[in-house]
Amino acid sequence: MGGKVIVVGAGAAGIYATWLLRRQGVDVTCFEASPYPCGRTRAYEKDGYICETGALGVETQWDFEPQLIKDVGLSGEYAAGTTMRVGFWRKNRLNLVGIGTAAQQLSWLRETLGFRGIPLKAIRQAIKVALAINKELKQIEAQGKDVHANSFEALLPFGDVRLDEYVLEHGGKEALDYIFQPFMSLMILGSAPDTCVTHMMCLFINNSQGMSESGGFGWMKRGIGSIYEAAYGMDEECYRLSCPVDEIVIEDGAVTGVRAGGEFFPADHVICCTTASKVAQITPELPQAIADDLACVRYASTYHYMFGDRKKFTPDEFTMEFFASTPEDPKPLIRVCLDAAQRSDAYTPYGREKGTLLHVLTSYEHEERLMAMSDEERLKLVMDETRKLFPDMPEDLELCECLYLPEAISLDAPGQMPAMHDYETNHLDDVRGFHLAGEYLHPAASAEGACITARRAAGRVLEQMGMPGLPGCKAESAAPAPKASAKDVAVPAGTAVAGFAAGVAIGRRTK
Ligand SMILES: Cc1cc2nc3c(=O)[nH]c(=O)nc-3n(C[C@H](O)[C@H](O)[C@H](O)COP(=O)(O)OP(=O)(O)OC[C@H]3O[C@@H](n4cnc5c(N)ncnc54)[C@H](O)[C@@H]3O)c2cc1C
Repeated sequence: MGGKVIVVGAGAAGIYATWLLRRQGVDVTCFEASPYPCGRTRAYEKDGYICETGALGVETQWDFEPQLIKDVGLSGEYAAGTTMRVGFWRKNRLNLVGIGTAAQQLSWLRETLGFRGIPLKAIRQAIKVALAINKELKQIEAQGKDVHANSFEALLPFGDVRLDEYVLEHGGKEALDYIFQPFMSLMILGSAPDTCVTHMMCLFINNSQGMSESGGFGWMKRGIGSIYEAAYGMDEECYRLSCPVDEIVIEDGAVTGVRAGGEFFPADHVICCTTASKVAQITPELPQAIADDLACVRYASTYHYMFGDRKKFTPDEFTMEFFASTPEDPKPLIRVCLDAAQRSDAYTPYGREKGTLLHVLTSYEHEERLMAMSDEERLKLVMDETRKLFPDMPEDLELCECLYLPEAISLDAPGQMPAMHDYETNHLDDVRGFHLAGEYLHPAASAEGACITARRAAGRVLEQMGMPGLPGCKAESAAPAPKASAKDVAVPAGTAVAGFAAGVAIGRRTK
């Protein structure tokens, strides 16, 4: 019984795996390459602004993040997405539509009636697509399969189906151009052909199954990274920052430890929580079958700009924006625009009423063009594009951050889920003591998805150590776990409606 566990990577998956194992009394050390924990959920302060590296929204309709928020004592920091105005860029014009309480909807009535962001035909077609998905899921259920977004099994028949093909078949071109393409580009920063319909199905299942007891989505008052930062802080002695693992050592079909900084650290189990491409790089003895599966994972890259100022230059209650790639407009350079300042007073030194903290994410489709530019040229281009939406944006902004993320989000590309299913069903035991966790192993890329896979890996480690598994975690089969109620994270009434509308019809993720 027992043994030593090494976790590689302190992103959402690595921190959650460490957290879970530590709570079971396991001897665990987490190696992180960068000087900071939290990976793509990291939030940091600069000049009084809270800058978030990647993930911006909390998926409380899912299983584990709500529980973790509670466990690390941050329930009071959760802010539900009750109100937001979402912008649709179409025909050179910003069209705003509001999602909020009945009173707010009423106050926005004129604007809503004048909304020209989506043609009615597109909405009708989107309903057809939703009905088709619903029908497919019912048929899967009728075969006795458990329809749950965390299970590959049910969605596997769709694992190779491109989203654009599915929407064109069941809805039509307008639904693709005005709803699904912008929606998915918000989720993955790429475009509909890059992704598989299963991502959409996962969201559909989660939103429809989870809404009665949870609040859809929201955000943390100091960034989603505050959850993982708190979990890290509670077990700080288990972490080695600035300590990249150079090699996961495999000998005679079993893990023996890791090599880092010229030293060898023995371990009985290694949970590798890096991106898929890194796993292959640092594991020279990785069996070919696992390497082949991992090679199916694709990522979108992005330039992530953060523009902050003491001047408020976005419309009231504006939080996020979609960019419809329509026949009328050229392919949008910017996929996502979000004013984080309007979520909580903490994001800017000036509070939500006065300051702005705009996140602007470029589209993966423009990667080559953007990479060929100098930093100054790229900044100018992005600012010019942003100013078309917010003409009041000052030239000399107080905060102007740019992060290039080469592997920003797993695209959930066609073929990825079948490959991950192959790993989960056929290759888990190919190397004794070797485990994988991370966003890419879940059907829908997200921090919560990363946590779900971390929980599976931690559960497997515990079982193999002869210790009791984790409640609700059937490690081998990736079965659904009991839901942690989002009541625990104090979701106000009304959020459910907003979350559902936003989650299903508009967008679950507040990027
Ligand atoms: C712009 C953007 C917006 C997003 N929006 C959302 C959102 O709103 N909601 C949401 O839920 N998700 C969102 N996501 C996705 C979310 O951020 C990721 O799915 C999640 O953070 C992935 O967690 P992970 O632990 O799998 O990987 P990561 O966070 O990438 O963690 C991997 C860690 O491994 C470390 N590492 C790599 N190599 C080594 C090595 N050799 N040795 C040691 N350590 C190593 C890395 O430094 C990193 O810290 C967004 C992502 C981006 C980029």
